[in-house]
Amino acid sequence: MAYSYEAPVSQTLFDRASLVTPGGVNSPVRAFRAVGGTPRFMVSGTGPYLTDADGREYVDLVCSWGPMILGHAHPEVVAAAQDAVARGTSFGTPGEGEVALAEEIVARIEPVEQVRLVSSGTEATMSAIRLARGFTGRAKVVKFAGCYHGHVDALLAAAGSGVATFGLPDTPGVTGAQAGDTIVLPYNDLEAVRAAFAAQPGEIACVITEASPGNMGVVPPQDGFNAGLKEICAAEGALYISDEVMTGFRTSKAGWYGIDGVRPDLMTFGKVMGGGFPAAAFGGRADVMAHLAPAGPVYQAGTLSGNPVATAAGLAQLRLLDDAAYAKVDAVSAELRSLVGEAFAKAGVAHTVSAASNMFSVFFTKEPVRNYEDAKKQEAFRFTAFFHSMLEQGVYLPPSAFESWFVSTAHDARALERIAAALPAAARAASEATS
Ligand code: PLP
Repeated sequence: MAYSYEAPVSQTLFDRASLVTPGGVNSPVRAFRAVGGTPRFMVSGTGPYLTDADGREYVDLVCSWGPMILGHAHPEVVAAAQDAVARGTSFGTPGEGEVALAEEIVARIEPVEQVRLVSSGTEATMSAIRLARGFTGRAKVVKFAGCYHGHVDALLAAAGSGVATFGLPDTPGVTGAQAGDTIVLPYNDLEAVRAAFAAQPGEIACVITEASPGNMGVVPPQDGFNAGLKEICAAEGALYISDEVMTGFRTSKAGWYGIDGVRPDLMTFGKVMGGGFPAAAFGGRADVMAHLAPAGPVYQAGTLSGNPVATAAGLAQLRLLDDAAYAKVDAVSAELRSLVGEAFAKAGVAHTVSAASNMFSVFFTKEPVRNYEDAKKQEAFRFTAFFHSMLEQGVYLPPSAFESWFVSTAHDARALERIAAALPAAARAASEATS
């Protein structure tokens, strides 16, 4: 596919990057491999806009893959970070900022009685699984196809996000021993979960699930699915781990837990809670968390865990996220979903706009999408044409048909008008696309 627009400075930077970094990027989905073309190297962000190295401005619908829920460079988040930086960037000792952030998380999310801060969502899920294994004395872990929990060895099997985008088989470098205790089941299928427990009595340490998946596109849990998981885990002596790295502090004040009220044993967080800095967490039942070092025997640590700059920015962001902020993000998302739906309908493109609170994505199919197998049946080639038309018109979408779109409180009428103006031509491009 040829693109009628160019990004010469980004291209030069990408050429330089490709010489010194595998694939030219530090996280695979940034590379545009699924859609083709030159990844845009961004130089600044303000509110709902990003500006690339060629000086072009885009309305951003990626929001750093979720964290920037107040838009880019929110003055109060920036001020909190600047203030913290001026006082020193890392001490390797405890500090008040991390206590305050932990208190904010515990206050917002009732099942979290204790929380440990880490630096990435991957670390959070890796540590939660280790803790679940240490607590139960069992080895096996159930996960769902299309759910992504970071690049933890044991959790890369049939993962979503970049693994789904690139259609990767199980990743080389993950040994049979590391993956052998992972049981991968179809999402939204409680019978499959019951069967797995029946086949391996007393062996399953935990079930980990995205609270509402956004890494195979947005595929919400069907009514009763999370409650069913919780019930099965409780009956079988396994822990129910809800991965809220993406949904946490985004889908509501208390994340997806604030929506479905199903009480997990352990939860994981990241993205929004760091205000754009590397901060993440796992937490939950106090009796389980008590098994973590130094209180208990399950080891877990981090040089930069609870970093003072990250915790200051994260706390500033969370404190700004009141009911009015969530109402704004929800309203922006609802308006955008209706604009997108209208544009595709007008262009005669078979599609489903699939939403979970303010997260949403488009599947190029009319069939219901309940799991990863369904998601893969969409006409993903249409997304490529759609994506490039939007990019050319100054709208930055996730460069994959299998990712959630994210909006922020900063997406105002002007930003939405720009998206609305771009949609008709992009929807036409999707309708004319051939595989
Ligand atoms: N869990 C979920 C649900 C995610 O969406 C992600 C990242 O997208 C992760 C875990 C991993 O987080 P990180 O990229 O911070 O390691």
